[in-house]
Amino acid sequence: MTNADKNATSASPIMITGATGYVAGWIVKRLLDAGHLMHAPVRDPDNVDKRQHLDALAEHAPGSIRYFAADLLDDGAYDEAMAGCEVVLHTASPFFTNVKNPQQELVDPALKGTQNVLDSVNRTASVKRVVLTSSCAAIYGDNVDVANAPGGVLTEDVWNTSSSLDHNPYQYSKTVAEKKAWAMAEAQNRWQLVVVNPSLVIGPGIRAQATSESFEIVKTLVNGEMKMGAPLVGMGAIDVRDLAEAHYQAAFNPAAHGRNILSAHNTDMLEMAAALEANYGQYPLPRRQLPKFLPWLLGPVTGFSRKFISRNFGYRWKADNSKARRELGLEFRPLRQSLEDMVAQMIDSGQVKRRAA
Ligand code: NAP
Repeated sequence: MTNADKNATSASPIMITGATGYVAGWIVKRLLDAGHLMHAPVRDPDNVDKRQHLDALAEHAPGSIRYFAADLLDDGAYDEAMAGCEVVLHTASPFFTNVKNPQQELVDPALKGTQNVLDSVNRTASVKRVVLTSSCAAIYGDNVDVANAPGGVLTEDVWNTSSSLDHNPYQYSKTVAEKKAWAMAEAQNRWQLVVVNPSLVIGPGIRAQATSESFEIVKTLVNGEMKMGAPLVGMGAIDVRDLAEAHYQAAFNPAAHGRNILSAHNTDMLEMAAALEANYGQYPLPRRQLPKFLPWLLGPVTGFSRKFISRNFGYRWKADNSKARRELGLEFRPLRQSLEDMVAQMIDSGQVKRRAA
């Protein structure tokens, strides 16, 4: 029994926003398996397709789940679901990169949504701890920021200062939302804020139909989009199941505090492709490194701006995950296992065309 388990015995319900999402699915499973009553405010509780995987989990777990209707942009929408909760997990935030109106599609739900949830926390006397799912995107914007970080390593002390509405708006939305959360936490002393900052989340979803951008990114490894090769673009990665355990520890471990980098592996697309070679070698994996000048010359045709290419391609990525390992007692799955499980699910669910070995 961990310190978190000893502390997780309260009978009060636990509220989680964004329960229908990829990351939240495994958190809900972890909490249902531990016997908790979950309060899940979702945009459309009548949409059975979006929640039947959660209902199936609850059917076979000691815990249970109750749905409420709430949108991040509706003031006061979370009051009812939060009533009586000691712990609130705020995971809901749009994660996609193909946007036309970044203010409306990304920043408003991230920033106003966080303010809205925390306004409810301020009105709900039972809440003692809030766990916010932020991102490494609130720590760095472009890979050149990693190179410029002290010692070339990202730590919890580093903040993203390079993103804006025009450049990396998703990263910008996560940065302003986390800043707002810290400002609101520091303005009171009843509830504690613990922030989880994951890098790219990989691994299978509880729901096979993909919702998150994570699937779009990993899919490019096996669907032939990068069969000519991949440029060196360093990134971090963590398994979605390990991230669920991180949220559980952030919610209940007395030692949890502050920001927490959740990134198991300092990696890049070619290394991820190589991890798939043994069991998915029949797929058109990227096998060689493309020189940086090629995508730069092609520019917007590649789907990346020249600014993005010059600030990200050719750079490695490194983050220090020792705080989460030490204070939250976490261990991480191997990269290969996460990728194989995720690719297997995308093939089984028809998102990636099956190829004979
Ligand atoms: P996801 O599957 O797309 O989940 C996003 C969730 O947010 C969904 O449940 C969605 O609800 C909800 N949501 C979006 N807009 C909303 C609104 N206006 N009102 C209420 N709910 C809304 O993405 P994910 O990858 O699991 O992301 C979950 C969290 O992890 C996000 O905060 C994301 O920034 C963070 N994160 C993800 C990664 C990653 O690699 N996946 C990495 C770092 C951090 P609907 O079902 O109604 O659409």
